[in-house]
Amino acid sequence: MKEDFLQIIWEQQLFLKDKPLLVADEELKVIKAGFKNQNAGPDFYQSKIFLFGLEWVGSIEIHIKASEWNAHKHQNDEAYQSVILHVVWEKDTEVLRKDGSIVPTIELKNLVPMEILLRYRSLLNEDKTQILCTSFLPSIDAFLMVSMQERVLVERLERKAREILSRFESNNKNWLETFFQSIAWCLGLQINAEPMLVLSQSVPVKILAAQAWNAETIASILLGQAGYLDKVSGQAGQKLKKEYLFYAQKYGLKPPPLLWKLFRLRPSAFPVQRIILLSIICKNMPNWFELIGSAKYNADFFTTNDEATNNQILQDFLKEQGYEKDKFEIGKFLKENLVINVFTPFLTAMGLYQNQPELIERSLDWVNEMKAEPNKITKMWEAENQTISTAGQSQALNELYKNYCLPKRCMECNIGTAILRSGN
Ligand code: SF4
Repeated sequence: MKEDFLQIIWEQQLFLKDKPLLVADEELKVIKAGFKNQNAGPDFYQSKIFLFGLEWVGSIEIHIKASEWNAHKHQNDEAYQSVILHVVWEKDTEVLRKDGSIVPTIELKNLVPMEILLRYRSLLNEDKTQILCTSFLPSIDAFLMVSMQERVLVERLERKAREILSRFESNNKNWLETFFQSIAWCLGLQINAEPMLVLSQSVPVKILAAQAWNAETIASILLGQAGYLDKVSGQAGQKLKKEYLFYAQKYGLKPPPLLWKLFRLRPSAFPVQRIILLSIICKNMPNWFELIGSAKYNADFFTTNDEATNNQILQDFLKEQGYEKDKFEIGKFLKENLVINVFTPFLTAMGLYQNQPELIERSLDWVNEMKAEPNKITKMWEAENQTISTAGQSQALNELYKNYCLPKRCMECNIGTAILRSGN
């Protein structure tokens, strides 16, 4: 038994219908369950009840055992003096307010229908590590599943947008700087996202713009900052190093501490390759930035054409490092990845910051226009007969699994609460 279960029972008033609710032998009428409090303080606020012949408006506090009131020292806490009702599973003691008055307490253990308890137990008490509600899913209304997916998709976008906004604040509200760092972060996904971000933060974007977004110069600066030019023997490496030393001195650049992870990486995901890719992408970056901000285009506008670039020095440098490369490609897969992980949350961040909901709508359109990205989690949902065709759906189901199913937050999930309610 967990407190979140009791909160749902109270919020949805899932009590036995044929028994009166009694507090100190007096009948309790709930006029309004109140609003769930997401912050510190009692669990519900603006609740309204009728008890002892009077109407009461105030807060509701919920505990498994009544004695938790004292254990949490609510009796002396100002925030809890407006509690009009203590809702507990087991009333093991009477509890008081600061002025010595008794807090009316209702015990729920004989008031919750057995079917609800059984559904709760079968949902959460099983020793499952995957989707807990699989046995209930076939009976879940498709509309409910869609609405939960929409909810978590918005939560995911907002979370990612808030990360971008906090980067934006640290960059003195410079959107292009933030955009460059977000692209660098994305190219490092999954395991080198953090060092790629730190690397990008070590070179102000205005230095890159001053080089007219020249891929070779930018590569020399970033590779030098990343320590990849410390020991070079080949001609290409030496040329890049010379260039780096010149710009490092000119702009006072200092290499940041970076902790690259190389274990289990494909060669194309090795940091040195990703840094060169970032340098190549820089030439598209100002243009992408303008187009995203205009919010006029559909997602496929950014993803349809593959582009390839040759740069002999960078190709030779990679060869000196032991990699073969004919050309550098900004292919469809990479662009789709950027749209999902950077452009979409970036547009949402702009929408939140500028208070323009149409930008947020557009970013939601983008994820729903793109094809799903299959992975282990989407396969699990597909095995439960969930159709996944768009990136919006795959992202939503990933989010749902990671943020609700795995931490067993079923009582905060529309599907979990619908399962409890079903048949009641
Ligand atoms: S969080 Fe929701 S979807 Fe996930 S297992 Fe619980 S009820 Fe099912």
